[in-house]
Amino acid sequence: MSKKELAHESSSRAVPLGSVRNIGIMAHIDAGKTTTSERVLYYCGVNHKIGEVHDGAATMDWMVQEQERGITITSAATTCYWHDHAINIIDTPGHVDFTAEVERSLRVLDGAVAVFCAVGGVQPQSETVWRQARRHKVPAVAFINKMDRIGAEMPRVMADIKEKLKANPVPVHVPIGEEDTFKGVVDAISGKAYTFTGDNGETVVEGPVPDELQKAVQEAYEAAIEAAGDYDEELLDAYLGEEGIAPERIWAALRVGVCKGELLPVLCGSSLKNKGVQLLLDAVVALLPSPLDRGTIHGQNPKTSAVLEAAIGDDQPLVALAFKVARDPFVGRLVYARIYSGELNRGSKVYNPRTGKAERVAKVMRMHANSREELEVAHSGEIVGLVGLKEVTTGDTICPQGKPIVLESMTFPEPVISMAIEPKSTADRDKLVEALGSLSDEDPTFQLRVDSETGQTLIAGMGELHLEIIRDRLIREFNVKANSGKPQVAYRESISRPATGEATFDRVMAGTAQFARVSISIEPLDRGAGTSIRTRLPKKSVPQEFHTSIEAGIMDAAMTGILGGNALVDFKVEVIGGEAHPDHSTEIAFKVAGSMAFRAAAQNAGPILLEPIMKLEVSAPEEHVGDVISDVNARRGQVLNVEAEPTASMITARVPLAELFGYATALRSLTRGRAHHTMEPSHFEQVPPEVRGDRKSTRLNSSHGYIS
Ligand code: GDP
Repeated sequence: MSKKELAHESSSRAVPLGSVRNIGIMAHIDAGKTTTSERVLYYCGVNHKIGEVHDGAATMDWMVQEQERGITITSAATTCYWHDHAINIIDTPGHVDFTAEVERSLRVLDGAVAVFCAVGGVQPQSETVWRQARRHKVPAVAFINKMDRIGAEMPRVMADIKEKLKANPVPVHVPIGEEDTFKGVVDAISGKAYTFTGDNGETVVEGPVPDELQKAVQEAYEAAIEAAGDYDEELLDAYLGEEGIAPERIWAALRVGVCKGELLPVLCGSSLKNKGVQLLLDAVVALLPSPLDRGTIHGQNPKTSAVLEAAIGDDQPLVALAFKVARDPFVGRLVYARIYSGELNRGSKVYNPRTGKAERVAKVMRMHANSREELEVAHSGEIVGLVGLKEVTTGDTICPQGKPIVLESMTFPEPVISMAIEPKSTADRDKLVEALGSLSDEDPTFQLRVDSETGQTLIAGMGELHLEIIRDRLIREFNVKANSGKPQVAYRESISRPATGEATFDRVMAGTAQFARVSISIEPLDRGAGTSIRTRLPKKSVPQEFHTSIEAGIMDAAMTGILGGNALVDFKVEVIGGEAHPDHSTEIAFKVAGSMAFRAAAQNAGPILLEPIMKLEVSAPEEHVGDVISDVNARRGQVLNVEAEPTASMITARVPLAELFGYATALRSLTRGRAHHTMEPSHFEQVPPEVRGDRKSTRLNSSHGYIS
């Protein structure tokens, strides 16, 4: 074989792009996502043994904590094959503390399987994840799991999907039997009944529709035809004309509706009892989009910000998005990337427009849940792990240097809870700093900071569970012993009006005179807008080389704010004046002067304290609704909506996080354990002055008490 042929051989792809499915399995905790994923891997031949969640052997849950807690945190990516299609599964967590994980996996998926519990229906967290999915326009199919459980009711879950998720459910399955007599499903579109035999349900047995289900199947069929009719004009005529309609034609029409995000076909089964999962895989192949269906990708030219459109295909220039960084015990820093277009060869150099640097990809790996396969080349549509990239981080675009493009980066919410952490011994100190650095490299919603005044290390994240898991990982993975303080609200600071500030640094340090003068203007930006710094100095007033020092000084000062060591956010600064000394000006002098000028300006700008506000959802029986509402009000909360439902009412409110510590216990005693709640960070808001006043006086009182 000639060299050229060899090259061709190694670059040809095993599965055509149209036969690739990048999917996520989304669910509320306990709905059966892990069990369903396990069955998928088993039937696809990846696993030769079924791992059960309850014995901690589930393949997708490869982190110890996940196995112990029975929840799935990291987006483990895994590739498997079903009927000549490659299915890449990105694991998507169902807990709101891990919203960044959900967000980033949704970003790189083309479609999703939404798993619901046949008894629990649409639970609050399914709604949260679903809203995120809608924002990313991820087409989905629904799988109503646990049909074998007592109280399983497909029609009620369908009604829930319609009402709570505002989706358009199309029943394609009708269950055979119910609860403990649940045997299998009828596919209403093909009009065939399926049961599952063999030790693990691996043999799919096709049969006629049982008589007692004829009516239900006909109704589901008509609903499917009606939904599909919107995407195939002649379908309804053909149906009314009583022509036989090929099931493939109905699937094809439904697929159009699904890919547009307008239809949600609903399947059912029981993963635990090995029923229905193969049909779910068939539906993934038949209904969910391939990367080609998602169309061209949009980005920007990093230099000119001009909008760019990139076609999809292996013969196109490389466009990939890094969506996760993980520390892998075998290969070290592993960057998960979705290749949208082009090919990525092992050993090739890729460009990162954010850093302006090219880096070499040492290894390209196709990730399986518990193993990996090294590739010479990865193709468009694939999701791979890359080794060797030191500076590529979550949200970065990877492309050729000559064809730069930036895809829209991911936005992650700001941490709302912080906690002090300190090493148990001096020997642990360096290890702790290194471990925390590496954890924050992996997780954009986890931040760390050393308080310059107290020297204390503070970690911040999205919730108590999030920080607890970080602490566990420190012990287990990094072998660091550390003490931690109580979780506390992560406040922010901002300003309320424009102002200016000036500072002169003129001192002798270590026997050398140092001089710098800086003046700045500052103005508030909208909440969530972030920070912006521009330097507009009159020519020659301050040499160019000091401009970055001034900006670094400003950023440093903003990190610790002026009211109480909290980061100051949502402002715009312009460096408007300055003065240098021909002999005595240094970088350090300008950095300090920048910091001082910032503090002076912020002091003049009406500083305010911001606190995280949570969205709280409580489902409680009718007789407790009044109590829950008055408790929310007493916590400075604002009730947004109360939705009365037959079994339980749903109360939606916004409440400051500071007032929500210990809420689970309070709610339990308030409702005698009959209410459930979820909360997720919503936004930051100014702490009302009277509350700030209270806090101050509490502190004064307690110190007074101490003196007396
Ligand atoms: P996840 O939190 O969504 O990943 O849910 P898991 O897959 O961990 O399942 C939660 C619990 O429900 C486990 O105890 C499973 O054994 C159980 N489970 C999962 N699927 C089914 C099912 O189809 N029927 C029944 N009865 N239990 C199930």
